[in-house]
Amino acid sequence: SLKKADVVVIGAGAAGMMCAAVAAAKGKHVILIDHASKLAEKIRISGGGRCNFTNLYASPANYISENPRFCRSALARYTPQDFLKLLSQYQIRWHEKHKGQLFCDDSSQQIIDMLADECDKAGVKWSMETSVLNIDQSEAGWLVETSAGSILVNSIVIATGGMAIPKIGATDFGLKLARQYKVKVVEPRPALVPLTFAQDVWQPFVELAGISLEVNIRSSSGGEFREDLLFTHRGLSGPAVLQISSYWQHGDALLINLLPEVDLSSWLIERKLGCKQQINTVMSELLPRRLLDFWLSKHGLMNKVLADISDKSLRQLGQSLNQWAVIPNGSEGFKKAEVMRGGVDTKELDSKTMMVKKLEGLYFIGEAVDVTGWLGGYNFQWAWASAQAAGQAV
Ligand code: FAD
Repeated sequence: SLKKADVVVIGAGAAGMMCAAVAAAKGKHVILIDHASKLAEKIRISGGGRCNFTNLYASPANYISENPRFCRSALARYTPQDFLKLLSQYQIRWHEKHKGQLFCDDSSQQIIDMLADECDKAGVKWSMETSVLNIDQSEAGWLVETSAGSILVNSIVIATGGMAIPKIGATDFGLKLARQYKVKVVEPRPALVPLTFAQDVWQPFVELAGISLEVNIRSSSGGEFREDLLFTHRGLSGPAVLQISSYWQHGDALLINLLPEVDLSSWLIERKLGCKQQINTVMSELLPRRLLDFWLSKHGLMNKVLADISDKSLRQLGQSLNQWAVIPNGSEGFKKAEVMRGGVDTKELDSKTMMVKKLEGLYFIGEAVDVTGWLGGYNFQWAWASAQAAGQAV
């Protein structure tokens, strides 16, 4: 049986539900397809169950893309304030955690329910637990063959997201479809992901597992953040590493300032003259105890009296804490990543509508596109904004 509709949206996640609701509210006949049985699992698990649904300061500077200007138009036309207006209609309470990151007071389920309700109110037709078998372009429009029958439409919106966390239904559907239609793809890579180290490199640091502190972190290819770093048994994690992982390339060193507020060499040399205290005591206010003892032992300075230590040794210690350099050998991969970096090349898309320039009626939105946000609500803001752009355009 052949059904007809105006729009098929594939992927009922963050971007897909928003786009379907917007298009249907304009009077379009919209069918929303997802292969999963549970709706929007990524929203549900996001932000530790409270969904960091936007960031007050979202701007193009918070996104990584081969074309950093591409996201500007969509982000400017649908802002965090616009999303907050929607939340207020549903009386969903929220709070700012830090750095503009907004979370639900209660549960991420509220965001899912709100988007599902927007779809229902606008008359979106749901087709859950439905697989897309084939997509063909013809004179009459786009023919979408699914496990629930075939649909002929004018527009198809691909909102199948990225490849992070395959366990909850992430696939490379969008990328495969793009390649099928010769739409260029920027190589997908795990991002916002813990980084790992060769066993012999990490062995000495294993005993630091569990320590967390605020650092400044850079990657030799770019990116710089001031965030918390967490030592783990396998490597480094915490917001600092998740953030920098989106910039990190194989072979790059991480440059970590474990004492971003203090120029340690000068600080120690200033205090040295006539100082009878042990260096451990002098530095105790600066670093977590376990980390401090570890670092001092590594430099053979444990329990030494500050005045007895040469300036050269103090400079070496200062340098190693202010500019700790370590080279990861990889990441924990898509299994542990929060997002996918890369995706459909933005050169192929119209930045106002998200339509593939050379293929009338085919749109890509959300994480499937080569626009990757920092940690902190930026990825959802891109999902909402790109979905609005396509939803208005279809
Ligand atoms: P998704 O929301 O992933 O939706 C894609 C949909 O497509 C899914 O429903 C999936 O079932 C469906 N689909 C996939 N393949 C197919 C197929 N072949 N056929 C049919 N359907 C298919 N971002 C933030 O901004 N803030 C956060 O707090 C945050 N926390 C996160 C926590 C975790 C653990 C993870 C993994 C991610 C987090 N993110 C967060 C990232 C954010 O979830 C995504 O960037 C966002 O959901 C992308 O929206 P999307 O609509 O493009 O894709």
